[in-house]
Amino acid sequence: MKTILITGGAGFIGSHVVRLFVNKYPNYHIVNLDKLTYAGNLANLKDVEGKPNYEFVKADIVDGEAIQKLFLEKQFDGVIHLAAESHVDRSISNPTEFVFTNLIGTVNLLNAARATWKNQAADKLFYHISTDEVYGSLGNEGLFTEQTAYDPHSPYSASKASSDHFVRAYHDTFGLPTLVSNCSNNYGSFQFPEKLIPLFINNIRNNRPLPVYGKGENIRDWLWVEDHARAIDVIFHQGKTGETYNIGGHNEWKNIDLIRLMCAIMDRKLGRENGTSEQLISYVKDRAGHDLRYAIDSTKLQKELGWVPSLQFEEGLEKTIDWYLENEEWLKNVTSGDYQNYYEEQYQKR
Ligand code: NAD
Repeated sequence: MKTILITGGAGFIGSHVVRLFVNKYPNYHIVNLDKLTYAGNLANLKDVEGKPNYEFVKADIVDGEAIQKLFLEKQFDGVIHLAAESHVDRSISNPTEFVFTNLIGTVNLLNAARATWKNQAADKLFYHISTDEVYGSLGNEGLFTEQTAYDPHSPYSASKASSDHFVRAYHDTFGLPTLVSNCSNNYGSFQFPEKLIPLFINNIRNNRPLPVYGKGENIRDWLWVEDHARAIDVIFHQGKTGETYNIGGHNEWKNIDLIRLMCAIMDRKLGRENGTSEQLISYVKDRAGHDLRYAIDSTKLQKELGWVPSLQFEEGLEKTIDWYLENEEWLKNVTSGDYQNYYEEQYQKR
């Protein structure tokens, strides 16, 4: 029996990783550590609650002492670290929070792993989940590879870049067995509706404005969240210690084209006349430091470890829209309270 720590398991991607590992590996004891911020929701994991190989621990990775204690008590064999503040707009309004969680939190976990594993680290693994945003912005051509120099522009990507550097530094300096992966934008079920796809599905359904930054020209590379979770599984089990793997779907979309596609699908699903939802589009002042284009080259992961995305984007988007339409109760619960105030502050005043 191996004991694996997954941090941020109550969040969007983390909940998919926890579900995959709990179901696929009955011989692993999965410990999900999460602070349950506005973005962490245990309702995302109702179907794994009560399974004998699953345990939830509410803790804050910024609390170094609590983290050290937990590592000593549980003697983890592996760590998959996803806990983070993840929303770029929030990092612009409150950068310091991102330094605490994304940087200090990561260093606390590295210190705890190092202190617990000492000289017996050979068969252990600290796997850090990161983003393609650390690479900065591309022009019209080219792709991010594992060799692309870091050039973060938002406080979010700067905090993730710093944490990636610390993970690699602990590998090089202390011999800690680490791995890093950098993934493109994810979409799918259980994503907090402040991010583009669930926000817009929710707004289209409720006939609310669709705030599009600038002219909607920014390009993102979208990957279905369950394909990211599968990639994390493959990298955790077959990745080479000390390496970095880029994860992406070779699936670039200009924001405005993606939004128009969502509007068309939603018109059909809601029985509205074609073109109705597009009228909700409202162009707002561009985000400060907004990167133009992200695009990932995941050849290394595909060639060396045999991972390929399983879903075409249009199919994944339909599936995702269906999920949010069928899970109105989940949306209502997460869009109440703090999130509602935040939403009003960020978007309604524009
Ligand atoms: P999310 O915001 O949905 O979830 C983050 C989780 O971390 C939440 O459950 C939250 O409660 C928890 N958390 C936050 N601060 C914490 C703290 N101090 N202590 C313990 N738990 C804390 O984020 P996500 O979109 O699921 O992203 C997960 C990871 O994947 C992040 O590291 C992010 O940088 C990375 N990533 C995300 C994307 C994407 O498109 N969403 C793409 C690439 C990489």
